[in-house]
Amino acid sequence: MKRALVCGAGGFIAGHLVRRLQREGYWVRGVDIKQHEWSPNAADEFIQLDLREAENCRKALALPGVAFDEVYQLAADMGGMGFIHSAECEIMHNSALINIHMIHNATEIGVPRYFFSSSVCVYRDMQPGEREMTEAEAIPAHPDNEYGWEKLYAERIAEAYSRNRGIQVRIARFQNCYGPEGTWRGGREKAPAAICRKVAEAEDGGTIEVWGDGSAVRSYTYVDDMVDGIYRLMQSDMQGAVNIGCLEYVTVDELVKTVIEASGKEIHMKHVAGPVGVQSRNFSNERIYSLGWKAQHYLKDGIGHTYPWVEQQVLKAQARKVLPKTVL
Ligand code: NAD
Repeated sequence: MKRALVCGAGGFIAGHLVRRLQREGYWVRGVDIKQHEWSPNAADEFIQLDLREAENCRKALALPGVAFDEVYQLAADMGGMGFIHSAECEIMHNSALINIHMIHNATEIGVPRYFFSSSVCVYRDMQPGEREMTEAEAIPAHPDNEYGWEKLYAERIAEAYSRNRGIQVRIARFQNCYGPEGTWRGGREKAPAAICRKVAEAEDGGTIEVWGDGSAVRSYTYVDDMVDGIYRLMQSDMQGAVNIGCLEYVTVDELVKTVIEASGKEIHMKHVAGPVGVQSRNFSNERIYSLGWKAQHYLKDGIGHTYPWVEQQVLKAQARKVLPKTVL
């Protein structure tokens, strides 16, 4: 039986990854600074640790007499655009420490294979209609935000350990990922979850606020597809960074309309000033396609699974405000 360590297992994508690895027959240890809110007992073993500390990375990696076969590093101090633009120091400090200590200690302890979750935020801004960018075109680098710069540094440190110290490294650059169990409130939520929440909270016939003018172009990848991409990449011998994303590109307004349609309500949009990020995205997925991966969920399907989940959380939260604790 293969043994995997999943860092960030208290979070969204890694929480889904834990369950996928178990279905593939792995024994999985999850590690995170916090418990998973919805599936706290999913991993075979879960350890709560702050991975900014080198000593805690060593504890997470320790197994009696053997090394983990695979380490998946998805722990990061991260969130949607609102968080990315307001927490530059936290991102540059906390995520960098986690990435420096994890790759160093995984190498020292003899882990053969290491996955790192990077982001398409490493790329420069694009204009609508520009041709697809390949992974190599992230350099010369001009990311739009500090989160992208930190990811680029973390990619390079992982690759340096791979070149000089022999650990096999796989790096995925995720497009926006969404789905059930993603952060949906509190300031770290990303656009799909934030819009699902706003629509779920709105009265039929009401209006929701949308940051920016609604024209920014993005691709959104459903979490099951993302996890499948991670798994296939990790099993492959593909070196260098690999984009993983759905080929369907939509504007923010189209995303909002898809959510409104899933809700069955009539909701109006009001565009307001807010952090939007880059204007456009368009990336080549040829590398991940060559591993037999293709997104199986278009936005309408994925939102069809995600909206009801967010709506359920909104209803539960509203009920908690109204009913005394003893009733719930
Ligand atoms: P998430 O915030 O749900 O998960 C990240 C987890 O890391 C959280 O559970 C958090 O508690 C944990 N963490 C933070 N600081 C820690 C620390 N000091 N010690 C231990 N754990 C710590 O985010 P996610 O959406 O699941 O993202 C997973 C990875 O994928 C991240 O590296 C993120 O940057 C990357 N990514 C995500 C997206 C997306 O759209 N969700 C897009 C591109 C890249």
